[in-house]
Amino acid sequence: MEVCDTFARGMRMASRFRALPSVDRVMSDTRVDALSRAYSRRAVLELVRDRLAVARRRIAENGDDAPGLDELAGEVSAQARSRFATWPRRVINATGVVLHTNLGRAPLSAAAADAVREAAAGFGDLELDLATGRRGSRQAAVARHICELTGTEAATVVNNNASAVLLGLAAIAAGKQVIVSRGEAVEIGGGFRIPDVLRQSGAELVEVGTTNRTYARDFEDAIGDDTGALLLVHASNFRVMGFTHSPGIAELAQIGRRRGVPVLHDLGSGCLLDTKPFGLAHEPMPQESAAAGVDVMFFSGDKLLGGPQAGIIAGSRRMLDIVSRHPLARAVRIDKLSMAALNSTLLHYVKGEAEREVPVWCMIGAKPDDIRARAERWRRALAGKPGDARVLESTSAIGGGSLPGETLPTWALSVSGVDAARLAERLRAADPPVIGRVERDALLLDPRTVLEDEDDALLAGLVGALGN
Ligand SMILES: *Cc1c(COP(=O)(O)O)cnc(C)c1O
Repeated sequence: MEVCDTFARGMRMASRFRALPSVDRVMSDTRVDALSRAYSRRAVLELVRDRLAVARRRIAENGDDAPGLDELAGEVSAQARSRFATWPRRVINATGVVLHTNLGRAPLSAAAADAVREAAAGFGDLELDLATGRRGSRQAAVARHICELTGTEAATVVNNNASAVLLGLAAIAAGKQVIVSRGEAVEIGGGFRIPDVLRQSGAELVEVGTTNRTYARDFEDAIGDDTGALLLVHASNFRVMGFTHSPGIAELAQIGRRRGVPVLHDLGSGCLLDTKPFGLAHEPMPQESAAAGVDVMFFSGDKLLGGPQAGIIAGSRRMLDIVSRHPLARAVRIDKLSMAALNSTLLHYVKGEAEREVPVWCMIGAKPDDIRARAERWRRALAGKPGDARVLESTSAIGGGSLPGETLPTWALSVSGVDAARLAERLRAADPPVIGRVERDALLLDPRTVLEDEDDALLAGLVGALGN
């Protein structure tokens, strides 16, 4: 009896496998054939083989029926649409995390986005002096803005802050010792660890002080003939609390000057605006480091500066000359699209309009009452839909390794009474995808990080994801 059952099941499965169309049959379907012609036969063939393998597995493991040609062609078309679409896809960030590294950190201002488009679509005077017709510098225009904003003598821009620090150390301290506080020999994330970067630059790390307390005299005592630099690193993604001490920047700058050792400062975020009036802890500012007498500083373009990915190196003319001439500078060169975006972003600060024009600062500065009114509007649009929609007090975060633990009070739309994880998944499948966060069985959408013109798209996605 048992043998007969197994035999019958085997026969049924064999007939399902036989019913599965061949690779050639699927490839010659008119829709699939059109895809091969429009894109690449090789890539479409891979998709077809992939779909057939999935179907075979489902027959073997779940006893599913073989999908028909129509179904397979439909699946291949859907997969091809996403594989051959432009990328990255625009998504709506309703997480409330202002600088979301997985979502590309800072969105650009309208002016910066226009400048990228303009720079991308044609030729430009990137390295041409239009007045003389001679070769110009791709750094000059942006460096002028940086110097004006930070009060430094000179500046140069590279690919990102990680490469800025690497280049700075290689140019200034290769073959020498670099003194770092034990509490600042940190990992920034994504494999960027100060001790490793130092080693890669050819400099030798000398740790001084203790994890929680380091004094200026610890630095001073460690200075010797082999000292190439003192390095300060802003511990941007964690906080040490309680019995702690770290020397002031001005104190170290003074020691450096007295002993003839350059003082370098990795600020992490390039925060050109004071964070205090926004209700946040103080974030170190490049202007302050310059005023304190730091020789060279490094900061990111796409953290609190609110611009494109970039690494900014600013400081004394003498040090910047050394940095710019180092062979690594060419290896970490920034591209023209990022330069265009950075130039426009910096101009917002020069014109004193950053709070109004730079999206990151608009989000940080958004008034709770306005956020609440927006969340209420979203809630009203969900009247009659499944789930329990309310507007709740919540918190937004800065993210991007800036201002750890600092939050801003906000109001979020909460949808409960439905499968929140499933709803989040359906929102990610919307067009454009909407990214929220799931907290205690509810889906939360924070208006703070949703750009002004994205409300309609967000609501359409939400209504669609909730169904009827
Ligand atoms: C974020 C950060 C970096 C790396 O900057 P990227 O622009 O992401 O390369 C380096 N140092 C510190 C202190 C940081 O916070």
